[in-house]
Amino acid sequence: PKLGVALVGLGYYSTDLLAPALELTEHCELKAIVTGSPEKIPVWQEKYGILDKNVYSYDTYDNIADNPDIDVVYVVLPPSMHAEYTIRAAQAGKHVWCEKPMAPSVADCEAMIKACADNKVKLSIGYRCQHDPNVQAYMKVAKEQPFGKVKMLTSAAGYFDGRANHWKQNKALGGGVLGDMGVYAIQGARLATGEEPISVLAQTFTTRPEIYHEVEETAMFQLEFPSGARASCQTSFGISMNHLKVTYEKGWLAMEPHSSYSRNKGSMSDGTVINFELNNQQAKQMDDDALALKLGKDMLVPGEEGLRDIRVVEAVYKAAALNDLVKL
Ligand code: NAD
Repeated sequence: PKLGVALVGLGYYSTDLLAPALELTEHCELKAIVTGSPEKIPVWQEKYGILDKNVYSYDTYDNIADNPDIDVVYVVLPPSMHAEYTIRAAQAGKHVWCEKPMAPSVADCEAMIKACADNKVKLSIGYRCQHDPNVQAYMKVAKEQPFGKVKMLTSAAGYFDGRANHWKQNKALGGGVLGDMGVYAIQGARLATGEEPISVLAQTFTTRPEIYHEVEETAMFQLEFPSGARASCQTSFGISMNHLKVTYEKGWLAMEPHSSYSRNKGSMSDGTVINFELNNQQAKQMDDDALALKLGKDMLVPGEEGLRDIRVVEAVYKAAALNDLVKL
């Protein structure tokens, strides 16, 4: 049987990407919704055939513990809410898929990992790209090192966000570009080297202070890795960019885009082209995770992986505030 998924938070990502992808999955299906917006309930019930008994509000959320239709809770709320809703799901005995950025702080991430371990449920972070064969292709280069070690790389992730008064501009809700898009730049650097950074230099700034006064709109940071590899990372809510360029001792690899929903592609200095077919990235992610749960296997992207990026995000903020090198 398919695992039953409850979507928590019915905003853009749940509505436009995850719910449609759950119609394509083989190992899981949308069974329940958790929402604070009553007007969305009939629309979702009609569209996805969700039973009355599988509709929850944030107040009745903990009652999912008594609902055998729900195997997995997918937290798709603003980042400041990820820890609370992950921990409550774990306490209800449900596996958790949680969107990126995992949480605003390392301490929150650690609490989420502990709650899931204590309650013997699995935790996975919504890094859809790690399920994409095109991203897996450059991860393989990091592992097998056909071109030797990484010398330098550039990793960029940004888009133009024209909205005002969104949680992405609100510090208390977990906004700021570093958590939102910066994690893709960090993933590019970490996955392309296969290493964890040991030092960070950073600058944050905004080109639109009227919108971005609580949080940074744009950030540039440098990461140093144990092998000596260095990464130059760029992220922005003001600039559309999505590329990864890696220079190795004996060659190069370029991906553009490297962290999109679809058509991630690239090439290497030996002529290899990276351009695998992928029908639906989110469906692949959720099917990989549902199958792993069915088989009792480890999650491809566990909570620990989300935490690694938040550790870097915290160091980037610190380095920018100090205007100095921060060691990790
Ligand atoms: P969104 O603002 O469209 O949706 C957020 C939902 O949370 C809304 O339905 C809103 O009603 C609800 N909510 C509950 N309490 C709220 C509060 N206090 N303030 C604001 N909203 C509140 O956001 P989104 O773009 O759907 O993002 C949700 C999560 O999904 C974020 O963690 C985001 O980073 C992640 N996301 C991931 C991807 C990806 O590619 N993996 C893409 C988009 C979003």
